[in-house]
Amino acid sequence: MNRDIKQIVKQLTLNEKATLCSGSSFWTTHAVERLDIPSIMLTDGPHGLRKQAGDADHLGLNASVPSTCFPSAVGLASSWNRDLVQLVGETIGKEALAEDVAILLGPGANIKRSPLCGRNFEYFSEDPYLTGELAASHISGVQSQGVGTSLKHYAVNNQEHCRMTTDAVVDERTLREIYLTGFEKAVKQAQPWTVMSSYNRVNGTYASENEYLLNTILKEEWGHEGFVVTDWSAVNEIAASIAAGLGLEMPSSNGEGPRKIVEAVNGGELSKEKLDQSVERLLAIIFKAAENKRPEATFDSEQHHQIAREAARETMVLLKNEDDILPLNKNSRIAVIGELAEKVRYQGGGSSHIHPTQLDSPYEQMVLLTEADASVTYAAGYKLASDESDPILMKQAVEAAKAAEVAVLFIGLPDRYESEGYDRSHMEIPVNQSELIKAVAAEQPNLVVVLSNGSPIVMPWLDDVKGVLEAYLGGQAAGGAMADLLYGETNPSGKLAETFPQSVHHNPSALFFPGDGDRVEYREGIYVGYRYYDRKDIEPLFPFGYGLSYTQFKYTDLSLSDTQFKDTDRVTVTVTIRNTGTRYGQEVVQLYVRDQQTVVSRPDKELKGFSKIGLEPGAEGSVSFTLDKRSFAYYNVDLKDWHVESGSYDILIGSSSRSILLQQTVNVESTTTVPVPTFDRNTTLGELLANPKTMAVMSQLQGLAPQGAEEAQSDAISSEMIQASMKYMPLRALIPFTGGALTEETLSQLLAGLNAAVRQ
Ligand code: BGC
Repeated sequence: MNRDIKQIVKQLTLNEKATLCSGSSFWTTHAVERLDIPSIMLTDGPHGLRKQAGDADHLGLNASVPSTCFPSAVGLASSWNRDLVQLVGETIGKEALAEDVAILLGPGANIKRSPLCGRNFEYFSEDPYLTGELAASHISGVQSQGVGTSLKHYAVNNQEHCRMTTDAVVDERTLREIYLTGFEKAVKQAQPWTVMSSYNRVNGTYASENEYLLNTILKEEWGHEGFVVTDWSAVNEIAASIAAGLGLEMPSSNGEGPRKIVEAVNGGELSKEKLDQSVERLLAIIFKAAENKRPEATFDSEQHHQIAREAARETMVLLKNEDDILPLNKNSRIAVIGELAEKVRYQGGGSSHIHPTQLDSPYEQMVLLTEADASVTYAAGYKLASDESDPILMKQAVEAAKAAEVAVLFIGLPDRYESEGYDRSHMEIPVNQSELIKAVAAEQPNLVVVLSNGSPIVMPWLDDVKGVLEAYLGGQAAGGAMADLLYGETNPSGKLAETFPQSVHHNPSALFFPGDGDRVEYREGIYVGYRYYDRKDIEPLFPFGYGLSYTQFKYTDLSLSDTQFKDTDRVTVTVTIRNTGTRYGQEVVQLYVRDQQTVVSRPDKELKGFSKIGLEPGAEGSVSFTLDKRSFAYYNVDLKDWHVESGSYDILIGSSSRSILLQQTVNVESTTTVPVPTFDRNTTLGELLANPKTMAVMSQLQGLAPQGAEEAQSDAISSEMIQASMKYMPLRALIPFTGGALTEETLSQLLAGLNAAVRQ
């Protein structure tokens, strides 16, 4: 039904409008019955549905209805599979529809600035391109079912320390290139029904009342059509928020919000037009949700569990596989060790915590896959609830490992080590687990470690083990998926969406995280993740984009539709991939772009495309990528726009950010009209000699070389030094240096001539 929203807004009283802009409970909006405006429910998200059973409590914490728990975003991102993430979104959307939830609170598109952020498991990547692509797929999936999403937490919300008050201080270029690009892509490609403003301040202003973020960038520049909802209790001053473009305050503020809005409108601090605009956006989505309601909808939880298993298989990353220790032989004697093998850690703590419909145990699932002659024993090895080694458990584990052909150790971070609400202070696993690895390794060289964690850990024990499978937090079917990968039912195809540094101190934000008091300065700028490790030439433990397979791939035939083009053109890049091994496998092919020569500081390379291809043994196929202006651009703060410098760029194709297998150079011509500079007395000679228009003027001038420059060469003053000092010399310095050839008066005339020359 098409409703005339402007007409409805006209019929609403001020009080009703104000009330609509504030939640009616922890999870619902207000209804206005006389105008047929229904109440809708918004609930978590992101990797499954957390709908509270019965009435919500005022903290939103009581038990939720069972729903399928999918791998969290860190894992989904490691699949590098847009279709898979879309399928997960669709499946969550079906469950939301069946539970009468109008809007799912997710996905999260914040960048992993530091491996210590407590919510990293809910975010996709350290890279904005990958983040944006996958957030868009997630949104498209959910919204294909007629359920809305809330892209969160907008913006620059990269830590939990002082999470509701911290001021993230970030420069404009970094903001645009690193922290906003993922949101921008997701908004432009998938139009989330809502965007959730974050708790923190950004450059001094709370995100929920930040006009620049909400109106200027989100709505005007990116064209967001839906409304902005606050994170839960993120409102500082509601009237300022509405004026800045907010639509909905959540949860209910028990009448305080509406009261303040009415007061602000009556007092003239908030314009009626601004309030109407917010209500219009809000109503458009509320009606859309009402139209998409399907009271008869149900879902098949068994089928969704299978989708969760399929997803989990692609989200795990094989980090090490010495001597082809994996896949395991289905007839072998295997010692399964570690409490996590029975009590799998499959999701993170906080608002995303789901009540799963069922839960796989890795140990049981492994047993199910073995054949008649196999023996699979279990020993706990450590207590998950404690960090202290238990000598008896440790001894039993070592004995079990000795009696087996291969030991598989389930290791990871306990819930208390990482969660929403607080950040980690280090990247270690509990000491009882690292001691167990050492003890088992001393007796059993055939050792595989399976990791359950939401963000990177350090691995001082890496040389002691032959295999490492990073299983992340793989959702309720994680146990089944681990077994599938360990026994080779499925070939691992995940690749890291984040760098694993060798030490927490190597991380670019290490010196500035989590800031001083409630202020955190993003001093590393654009150098986040691999952008930093590459430029600093620091060898990571495992690089961004890295992941092994049980088969091998050969990359050939890089071809481009054009190698010389304008920045407004689109170019297609094609590569052939061949599976040279003996099993079916999927490969994530990555495309990075490097600017060969640049006037601004730029990363060594940046991800601008990726594609996942599945190939039978011996088969080959091709993948292609489309590059456009943004693939080559940086954010130019003077132009206040994306800008491509004319020049040469390398197109790099690789199996990880540190394994570039093919490359080709292209030449891109900028179409931007760069503003004509205005020269003044501080303009340097170098600048004037580099500009063809002013160079002509300068070369006509006689006697303006600093006196004695040519004769000055000596041991102390090289010709290079003379050239450099000329290049960096401002015009005003020529007055004393030219022995009277240039005076203030002739300098003014010269400047007039130069400014006229560039304007011709
Ligand atoms: C979290 C959001 C979540 C909301 C509702 C907040 O504390 O930051 O991510 O969607 O609670 O549970």
